[in-house]
Amino acid sequence: MATVSDYFGSLVFDDRVMKANLSAEVYTSLKKTIDEGAQLDIGVANAVAVAMKDWAVANGATHYTHWFQPLTGITAEKHDSFISPSPDGGVIMEFSGKELIKGEPDASSFPSGGLRATFEARGYTAWDPTSYAFIKGKTLCIPTAFCSYGGEALDKKTPLLRSMEALNKQAMRILKLFGNDTAKCIRSSVGPEQEYFLITKEMYDQRPDLRFTGRTLFGAKPPKGQEMDDHYFGVIKPRVASYMEELNHELWKLGIFAKTEHNEVAPAQHELAPIYTTTNIATDHNQLTMEIMQKVASKHGLVCLLHEKPFAGVNGSGKHNNWSIATDTGVNLLSPGETPYENAQFLLFLCAVIKAVDDYQDLLRIAVATAGNDHRLGANEAPPAVVSIFLGDELNAVLEAIETGTAYKGAEKIQMKLGVDVLPKFNRDTTDRNRTSPFAFTGNKFEFRMLGSSNSIACANIMLNSAVAESLKIYADRLEKAENFETTLQEMIKKTIKDHKRIIFNGNGYDDAWIKEATEKRGLLNYRTTPDCMPHLLDKKNVDMLTAHKVYSEAELKSRCEIMLENYCKTVVIEANTMVEMAKTQIAPAVETYVAELAKTAAAKKSFDPSIACGYETSVIKKLSSLTDAIYSRAEDLEDALMALHKAEDITAESYMIRDTVLAKMSELRLPCDEAETLTAKKYWPFPTYGDLLFGVR
Ligand code: ADP
Ligand code: MG
Repeated sequence: MATVSDYFGSLVFDDRVMKANLSAEVYTSLKKTIDEGAQLDIGVANAVAVAMKDWAVANGATHYTHWFQPLTGITAEKHDSFISPSPDGGVIMEFSGKELIKGEPDASSFPSGGLRATFEARGYTAWDPTSYAFIKGKTLCIPTAFCSYGGEALDKKTPLLRSMEALNKQAMRILKLFGNDTAKCIRSSVGPEQEYFLITKEMYDQRPDLRFTGRTLFGAKPPKGQEMDDHYFGVIKPRVASYMEELNHELWKLGIFAKTEHNEVAPAQHELAPIYTTTNIATDHNQLTMEIMQKVASKHGLVCLLHEKPFAGVNGSGKHNNWSIATDTGVNLLSPGETPYENAQFLLFLCAVIKAVDDYQDLLRIAVATAGNDHRLGANEAPPAVVSIFLGDELNAVLEAIETGTAYKGAEKIQMKLGVDVLPKFNRDTTDRNRTSPFAFTGNKFEFRMLGSSNSIACANIMLNSAVAESLKIYADRLEKAENFETTLQEMIKKTIKDHKRIIFNGNGYDDAWIKEATEKRGLLNYRTTPDCMPHLLDKKNVDMLTAHKVYSEAELKSRCEIMLENYCKTVVIEANTMVEMAKTQIAPAVETYVAELAKTAAAKKSFDPSIACGYETSVIKKLSSLTDAIYSRAEDLEDALMALHKAEDITAESYMIRDTVLAKMSELRLPCDEAETLTAKKYWPFPTYGDLLFGVR
């Protein structure tokens, strides 16, 4: 049997394949482009294209595609075959450097938020040589960036690459100041932990809500939910185990480092974590992972739900974005070092993150804002909508000692002076106890836990990279001009702690008292919903920062804001329409059929013996009749609320109406439906229940 190392990356045009299939000259030149961003000349591109095509064809590919990440949040591809007619009536397989470097998909049907009027339909895709090409099915996929003809980014990859460059530039200035001459560049790395649910395909097909919206819009609480805590890390069922086995196999072939898998808190919920890698590649890989999770599930008669909240009353799914910064020489800048000097550098990077998270709380919140994630944040299963940082007691004590200039009890030295003591190593055992924090330091990385399971991780990392680049820029500007490096450094670190300690919170993030303290005493932001936070993307401070680092242009930001709000509105409107349809055409009629059956039974009993009371039938009929009345009138109310949306003057106004009325009407409609479920004989209920769905995979 083939071992993992035999087939790992077998579908990837990776360094091993490049070395084996390219001339030394072409390989060196391509490496220079990959590592240093050097311009690629067309001769090299042609040679790479031919090698790529030959390799792909040898591995069964017939087509190629420029694979990109439009603002819909998923990936897009348009396939072209390699075939080209030959004079003798046959075909030859062809692929040129030009086709490798640039593609021109019709961009008009991708969201652009006004960046590209529909008549200017052309957009182009540009090869991203830093992310390896791979084969999916019979298609060679070439990771690309997607831009309009005016050069504006229409995708998530372009701003991500720009944010990595911004962070690189500023962090390198700091490293130079600390006398580091060996590092050529820094990169942010990410390991995203992905949560998901598995249910049977058969049941999924019976629920329009799952098919149209990815989540259940109705469903009474099952007799058993997650209260026994018996699922987390529990034994993996054979059917799930065989799913995971095939998933791993598929991911490994694509060079994705799927590493950990386990059951999660909710029944039917699981998690997959890869080994971390460069942010750009981690993002591509996470998109692919989500796609393959769904594909493999269908082969096993299962459906993989990536929605943030598939079931009410049961934990939803998130994604933990583990993030750190490291030099190309392998030094993790968020890891306390061996010497006092390294520790001073560590503290400065730590402060840069603290300052960034405090100054740009709104951007981090915005980066994870979707209609789906709004159900999770603050619902005592995921972090609150208030952003704060968990540092752990040890590191917290270090910062307090620095701020007040007092003794740090944990260290041997009495006086904690910067650059003098060696900091204790923070191993994750002592730091990772708090699972309620949105942004936790876990020894040598930060874990940003607010992302929704279906989110692309691009946005969160764009904001994180940019905000930290901004802190580092401010530090570098001062330090480069400082007369005394050490004193200035000390002052800056002290000042950051003093100015930004409000963002540090080591307690229980699920506690209501924290939300009160955070918002009332500390002045932290609490944007509970997408419409609450999204317009702040265009606040001057945010536009200034993101444009100064050339991550987004102002027009690009406006388009993102518009698209995200549009996406929010469309998502909820589809959910509301699905609810109305299910209530009117499935739930109410099913209940009526059952009521008729009960009435028939009662009549039969009476005709048999008029003295039989028929108490059961009478009570249930009465109860269900009043519930169907409520179902009908509430469905009508919801429809009215949807009609009223046409009066909204713009997308922001529409999103407010949805937040304030449509969502409320949806909850109101759900109540009588769920209650009716508990009173209706199971065989009359038109779709599988929560109990069926959550415990159906055996
Ligand atoms: P958990 O948080 O569930 O206990 P782990 O500690 O095993 O899980 O790791 C979670 C993720 O963090 C993994 O994807 C891992 O590769 C990633 N990770 C570990 N070290 C780093 C780092 N320095 N930078 C970024 N991600 C990292
Ligand atoms: Mg984790």
